Amino acid sequence: MLEDSHYYFNKAADVLGLGDHIREILITPRRVVKVEIVTEDDAGELIHCVGFRTQHNDARGPYKGGLRFHPSMDEDHATALANLMTWKTAIAGVPFGGAKGGIDCDPHTMTKTELNRVTRTFIERIKEIIGPTLDIPAPDVNTNAEVMGWIMDEYSRDYGFSPGVVTGKPVDLFGSLGRAEATGRGVMYAAREALKDQGKSLKDVTVAIQGFGNVGSHAARLIGEQGGKIIAVADHLGAVENKEGLDIPALVTWTAEHGTVNGFAGGGAFNGSDVITWPADLLIPAALEGAITEDNAADVQATLIVEGANGPTTPRANEILLDRGIVTVPDILANAGGVTVSYFEWAQNIQQFRWELDRITGELEKVMVRAYAAVRDVANEKSVDLRTAAFVLGVRRVGRAALARQPIRKTITFD
Ligand code: NAD
Repeated sequence: MLEDSHYYFNKAADVLGLGDHIREILITPRRVVKVEIVTEDDAGELIHCVGFRTQHNDARGPYKGGLRFHPSMDEDHATALANLMTWKTAIAGVPFGGAKGGIDCDPHTMTKTELNRVTRTFIERIKEIIGPTLDIPAPDVNTNAEVMGWIMDEYSRDYGFSPGVVTGKPVDLFGSLGRAEATGRGVMYAAREALKDQGKSLKDVTVAIQGFGNVGSHAARLIGEQGGKIIAVADHLGAVENKEGLDIPALVTWTAEHGTVNGFAGGGAFNGSDVITWPADLLIPAALEGAITEDNAADVQATLIVEGANGPTTPRANEILLDRGIVTVPDILANAGGVTVSYFEWAQNIQQFRWELDRITGELEKVMVRAYAAVRDVANEKSVDLRTAAFVLGVRRVGRAALARQPIRKTITFD
């Protein structure tokens, strides 16, 4: 995965004419931490797993990025995803750098008390390198508001009341209104803006979505509310389709009860891997990385892809999609709504002041519209695709901030 994020970075660095040395400086993480987690399961047996936190770049502010609890989590994933966070926070214009981390565990096989112990042990191990002005974690795959609440509690035991150490907390525990749906809402705005450029609106499109967790389910609901027709949804256990449009609120309720879209009576079942090539106008990958590959890119039927997930498209697939004229709104732009409302949450925590939901959604919309327009302007200026343009914009803003912090005598430009 790291190779993929470097590939996209290097394409942008070529456009910016950056030398090898400055590329190396920009992609190398400032700090990579790996910790052993040993605790007990409910039966008294030992649990053993490994936790990671990569802090990539803090030129524009404290490190910021999610925590993923998944068996595939490793140093490579943490570092690749931390890189993406650095460019993403710059594109959104929020005052953070980039970080990512997690634990190589499978929460689906753990009880809540086991998950709580594993989470707390992890935070105990990394507490010196996180903090409200240092590094602020957030939810990612298989972590949620509840886990963020435990993190706040564990950190506050040592450092005193510290709601700003983590975002995506429960609303009852200094979380922000609108944070849970923020990434999906941002995906909806990104899709709307991209469709506008094609002379269309959300009302005109059919939609296929891979992943029905935090990002996928909220994107589905909000796009549905804007008139989009969600005709296929897949998760890791099943898939459901309906040509007339799925009843998304009912599917959300079903999934909350059953842990999967599988078995939902409001549509027909299909093989989930086919969701990527489903005959829909808009494809939203909102699960894991590497969903669109050289094996299925030639068969994608959508004309627009909006990446809710991080890293869902491999470089080879990306080139195939570009050759085919399929427009992709890249992850570092399309899913920036989450970190944007995380910023609003952090700001509220620091101010000890609560914003109304209208203010949060209004400000989020402004950020997403502005970020999309800025990326599109770079795409036009440099005659490149939206992904390359997004990387150019992110690298440019981070590079300029880094230079402004040091009296560097060598002339380096990011034009
Ligand atoms: P989540 O754990 O809430 O949901 C993940 C979903 O993906 C689940 O429905 C799961 O069943 C599905 N999935 C997993 N493997 C699959 C497979 N092989 N095929 C089909 N579906 C599969 O996670 P999330 O928070 O929604 O994150 C999803 C993606 O969005 C990740 O790439 C994450 O990094 C990215 N992201 C999340 C946020 C956020 O705020 N949560 C912000 C930005 C980006």
